[in-house]
Order: sequence, then structure tokens, then C-alpha cells
Amino acid sequence: MSQINTSGKEILSKYRKAGRISKSAKKLAKKLIQPGENAYEIVEEIENKIRELGGIPAFPTNFSVNYEAAHYSPEILDTRIIGERDVIKLDLGVHIDGYIVDTAVTVSFSDDTDSLVNSTKTALTKAVENVHAGQKLKTIGKIIESTITQAGFNPIKELSGHQIKRYVLHAGVSVPNHSGAQFLGASEFESGKVYAIEPFASTMTGAIKESEVSNIFRIIKKPKGNHEKLNKIFDDFYQKVGILPFSPRFVTDKNTLAEKKEINKKIQFLLKRKIIMKYPVLIEKSKRALVSQHEHTVLVGKSSVELLT
Ligand code: MN
Ligand code: MN
Repeated sequence: MSQINTSGKEILSKYRKAGRISKSAKKLAKKLIQPGENAYEIVEEIENKIRELGGIPAFPTNFSVNYEAAHYSPEILDTRIIGERDVIKLDLGVHIDGYIVDTAVTVSFSDDTDSLVNSTKTALTKAVENVHAGQKLKTIGKIIESTITQAGFNPIKELSGHQIKRYVLHAGVSVPNHSGAQFLGASEFESGKVYAIEPFASTMTGAIKESEVSNIFRIIKKPKGNHEKLNKIFDDFYQKVGILPFSPRFVTDKNTLAEKKEINKKIQFLLKRKIIMKYPVLIEKSKRALVSQHEHTVLVGKSSVELLT
């Protein structure tokens, strides 16, 4: 129960530090993301920057391209190269002592995609401007949806923003990207709470599905019993990645194909025993779709809102 001993002031300074680091990481990302560059090398550089500045990546940096909406994170020695016409969603998380910020930006190089990219950027700006304690979650959803549809695109309704709690990225309450959302529990923003707001827009219908590919995982339980091999693999993973989402890249410093194969074998072993879960890459149902996303984390106060990222 360490939170009892942690003052509000200390928590705030941890959130602010995580936020400052996320801004530096995003700035670096915008500089590094260029046609011809390798996605794997870029995310490694971004995550190393986060660590260098005293933060920890709260989840594997997402590098979802074109019709991929979310959850693609480069694998060990991933060969993905950035194309001239790619629309890249760079989504990163930073935590200090479990206090997480979550932020994303979309990068593209062609004028054709400006209006798509601007639609989520503007939707996010308007959403953040309208957040305050007591504001209806639904109202923010409506603002996001109308901004995106007025620009000629469709919001991805199945994806949403979310409340963030210590060590919990998706903490129950959802911040919708449309006005028709159904709510379980809270229906308003509450003072003293942290929320990620993340509009997504698609050039097609905005319907998504899970792909066959997963490169983000999370430990969900400790193995029971005395299966020696299982316990050994679990202990090794747990020590390295804890309880937050992880990439196979987080489990090793060795960037070789042999190591990649070995780690993937262990991941399959843990998946089969339901010790870890996978986050499949989420893709637009149409492969021709282009998807844009922008995301900020905000701290809602009694009478003000602080943009952390
Ligand atoms: Mn998020
Ligand atoms: Mn995110």
C-alpha cells in the first residue's frame, strides 16, 4: 500500500516527469520517422531515449502503418522500412513508478493525407479543450465524431480513450470516439483522475478486426505448481517486464535471429499455458483504408485540466 505514503504532490511530479519525457520522445520520433528508415531501429532509439531520461516505456512503442490502427510494435530485427506514402501511428507510453502517460502522433509525408491526419489532430485539440471535471464522456465522443465526420472521414468507434491508474493503462472508464457509446459505471470526467483521449479516423468505414499478428504481450498470472521449466521462464520474464505490456524486445539485449527464435518459443509456451496474453494488431477491415490517430493524457483537476503530454 505504498500509495498511502505517497503525497498528491509526489504523484503529480511523477506524472509531470513522465509527461516531459513523453514529449522529448515524441519530438525525437518526428525527427527519426523518414522514408527509407527502419521502424525497428527507430522504436529502439525512442525507447532508449525514454530510459535515458529516467522513464520506463509503459508499453512497447506502437508503429502501426496505413490500415493498421493499433498494436503493431516492431519485433527483434524487424525489417519494416518506411515508405513515402505511409501513414504511421507512433504511440508511446512512459511511466515513473507506475504513473503512466500515453500519447500518440500520426506522421505522413504526402499532402494527400493531410486532411486525414489533421482530422484526428483537430478532434483531439477540441476534445482536450472541452474536458473538465463533470463533463460528460459522451459529449467528448460527440465532439470527436463530428470533427472527424465533418472532415469527410469516419471515427473508429471500437477504439476509445481510457482512464489510467497506477500500473493500469486501461482502467475501466472509456473515453469514446463517438456519441452513441454505452457506459458502464462513470459517465463523466472526475476530478483527480487521469485520462487518455485518442481519436482515430479512417478513410473507409472505420470497422476494425484483429489480425493474425501479435507482437505485444502481457503477463496475466503467476504459474501454479512446480513445473520447473515454466517457473524458470516466468521468473525471467517477470523480472524483466513486470506486469505492464511488453515486447519480445524487452526480454533480451541480444539482437540476433537465434535469440528472436528462442524468445518467440518461450512466448508461445507461456501463451499456451495462459500465463501471458497477446494483443493482436488491430486492422481496418478494408486493406485500402488509411487510419490516423492522435492521443494525449490529461489530468483533470477540480477547476482546471493539465495536459501532461
Ligand atoms: Mn491509449
Ligand atoms: Mn496510446
